[in-house]
Amino acid sequence: MLETNFLIEKAAKTHHLNLTEITSLLADSSCEEALCRAADTVRHDFVGDGVHLRGLIEFSNICRQDCMYCGLRRDNGNVERYRLTEDEIVRLAEKAKGYGYRTVVLQSGEDAHFTAERLAAIVRRIHAMDLAITLSVGERPREDYALWREAGADRYLLRIETTDAALYESLDPGMSYENRVRCLRDLGELGYEVGTGSLVGLPGQTAEMLARDILFFQDIDADMIGIGPLIPNGDTPLGTAAPGDFHLTRRMVALLRLLLPEANIPATTAMETMVPRGRELILASGANVVMPNVTEGDYRRKYALYPGKICVADTPADCRACMSGRIAAMGRFVAKDKGFRHHGHHGSQPHFKDTDTAESQ
Ligand code: SAH
Repeated sequence: MLETNFLIEKAAKTHHLNLTEITSLLADSSCEEALCRAADTVRHDFVGDGVHLRGLIEFSNICRQDCMYCGLRRDNGNVERYRLTEDEIVRLAEKAKGYGYRTVVLQSGEDAHFTAERLAAIVRRIHAMDLAITLSVGERPREDYALWREAGADRYLLRIETTDAALYESLDPGMSYENRVRCLRDLGELGYEVGTGSLVGLPGQTAEMLARDILFFQDIDADMIGIGPLIPNGDTPLGTAAPGDFHLTRRMVALLRLLLPEANIPATTAMETMVPRGRELILASGANVVMPNVTEGDYRRKYALYPGKICVADTPADCRACMSGRIAAMGRFVAKDKGFRHHGHHGSQPHFKDTDTAESQ
């Protein structure tokens, strides 16, 4: 216990722990409350009390990949496939802006219909609306990433899923760990804010592997890190696997805040699927971002990464109202700026800014 408290204090002060130290905190459920309290303090000191809302647009569930855990996998014949048109996507972005969101996240399966030029056209139209744009469309050649960046995309989400290369390649058949890392490197070099993250509870994954994930995120200086528990999907080969542990995931989020204090860290939808009010608990354990769904109607249900997805019957307006009420009830507020990563603001005011002046682009 003494040792544990010492490690938590060290992490909160120096933002550095070694592999053994991180592993021991991840593996020790008795330290969870203290760890999360420390993470909440570091979150307050580095990124403030503002919660950034990013409007999530799930624009296609068509995917050429065959990841063993994901409901959108190519071989899943039980999912009804859909693809929104350019105009439909732009219209959802307009609506997102109307709800007050400053960022939209365009996420899809790896859908070849969206050539680099087609997606660039969409990015240009949304960029002209003064919205920050996050893309999350999987692995692409560097030229595609470069074109979208020129078109106005600001950020990119691509989870590494696990840094254990053998585990990665066994769960993502036909994909290479090396290429995933190449993508993240290209994105960083092209000036994107880079978001990555892990799935917690993959079969065969150990606490030490998760600790290595954290060291990897430090190593690439990730701007955003999204962590979620595995939720077994009956339409996939991992359908009968054990679900990821909510508390281990929570400790992972808290450690990420301590060790990457400036990062934007979402309270992910998967957390709430496992535990009611799960996102509040995660927002109080180091997270500072929520990604409410902007996708409308039946598409929400069809974008079925995992079962039990929350709010599939709700409208985007419901999500906006629900999230802002919940954030206010926690004594936090919905940030009004675009929510770029803050660099080097340790200690006092600038990160509490409610305006756009602190933005780097
Ligand atoms: N095609 C994009 C978006 C993938 S879906 C890409 O490759 O980045 C977004 C994330 O959902 C994935 O990165 C994965 O971590 C998560 N996910 C997929 N299946 C899941 C499941 N069964 N349980 C929990 N999270 C899952």
